[in-house]
Amino acid sequence: MPFTGEKSNKLAHSSIIRNPEIIESLSDYKILFNKVPPKETFQELLKEYEIDRTTIRFVYTVDGGFEVIPIDDNFPSAQVGFVQFSQNLVNLEKQSDMVLDGFVDPFKFNQIFEAKTESIDLPIYNTASITDSTILETTRKKIASFFHETKTYREEGECLSSTLFGILSEEDLSKNIHCLNPACRESNNQFEFKKNDFSADNYVCICPLCHKKVYLTDILRLNELVDEEFGSHGILSRLSRVVEQLLPINFIRNLLKDERMSYLNRLTALSSIAFVLDGPLAIYGEPAKINRPILNYLCDINLKLEQHNLPGLVYFGLQKTGKIVEHVELLIKHLQEKNELIKTNSVMVISDNYRYNYIEPKLYEDISLFGKETYYGQDMIIFNQQGNPYVITSLYPQKRTDYGFSDNIFSIESYTRISETISLINELNVDMYSNALLPIVLAHKYASISLQPGVSTLTDFAQSFFNSEK
Ligand SMILES: [Zn+2]
Repeated sequence: MPFTGEKSNKLAHSSIIRNPEIIESLSDYKILFNKVPPKETFQELLKEYEIDRTTIRFVYTVDGGFEVIPIDDNFPSAQVGFVQFSQNLVNLEKQSDMVLDGFVDPFKFNQIFEAKTESIDLPIYNTASITDSTILETTRKKIASFFHETKTYREEGECLSSTLFGILSEEDLSKNIHCLNPACRESNNQFEFKKNDFSADNYVCICPLCHKKVYLTDILRLNELVDEEFGSHGILSRLSRVVEQLLPINFIRNLLKDERMSYLNRLTALSSIAFVLDGPLAIYGEPAKINRPILNYLCDINLKLEQHNLPGLVYFGLQKTGKIVEHVELLIKHLQEKNELIKTNSVMVISDNYRYNYIEPKLYEDISLFGKETYYGQDMIIFNQQGNPYVITSLYPQKRTDYGFSDNIFSIESYTRISETISLINELNVDMYSNALLPIVLAHKYASISLQPGVSTLTDFAQSFFNSEK
């Protein structure tokens, strides 16, 4: 049933539309999707849960942000971009001591955030490193070295390049990495790279045809966003998204190599952490293909947990904006007008059928699943104990190539830790509409464990699992 919303009266203040012809043509627009399902259908789709005490003891979060700044007052168009990542691992059983009597201790705040921030700078427009002559050259080098230098969890652990290399299959690599030299790409005997061709110390190899460097990070295809003529602003959000999705994988891989804990305790630790990412579990645009190796890796971890009788990962993205969030707001308004109560502690999986009926149009009449090229999780709406909505993407319960994928992802029963996820959402009680970064929000509430490699406070974390040694 269509829901009649008002058009934004912000339009009335725009000076562009004084022109009567434009005013006339504006009246011809409609919002494509502003539908809500009949209330019976919606209430039927919502499944209520009895909430048990959760076995989640820690929360790992990561969030990235970026900005562009001019580097010289005389050349305001000469720009450099920065991308910064905040990560946090908090202990749900310990309150933060950062806030005392309602005031944040600035020393503790800085101590926590300096220790967990990773950043990278990139040339955006009319700039390059001193040794390079193009934006492209500097961009490729900077990304490769950021991946090489960035690691989470511990000094002895692997870097982000090793993580990327580790999750790629031979086929993922050979299909998606090429020499960027146009002469090599057009050549008939285009060289097919193998994992073995990349040196393990820097993940670089030399193209046998032109003898130029090929970086492992070229697989992210971020070079395609470099625009020497108009500027490469688009690269920042793409890089930020893909790194946000890879940092938790780096954390997991390094935790699994922490020999201070028995192997069983490392797995127990993993199933006690909730991984909460910003936005949907999806990678868009040029680096999108990385979504598959990430899903495959996380499904392999779930298999290992299952073999040791441990529950699977709690792994989800929290969406604060977007079409589903707007749909839920409309739905709630609609139900309130009908004096209809929303079931609390409940979940609805957004099936493709529901999505294409009420949230967004199906662009192509093909039969494939939504997010086939981008998503590695399923969108869901959760109503917490107060009936407040949360839109999450929960990790798919199986690999895309596993039997029954296209049915199981829409069945709430496939998500074995959903009741604990609701319980966690009740506990965290984060404000969906706040702009604050989740890692920072959590640091105000819970004791943070440093993720800086080499800092010994992670021992606290490992220690809590020595104590549970059986
Ligand atoms: Zn080449």
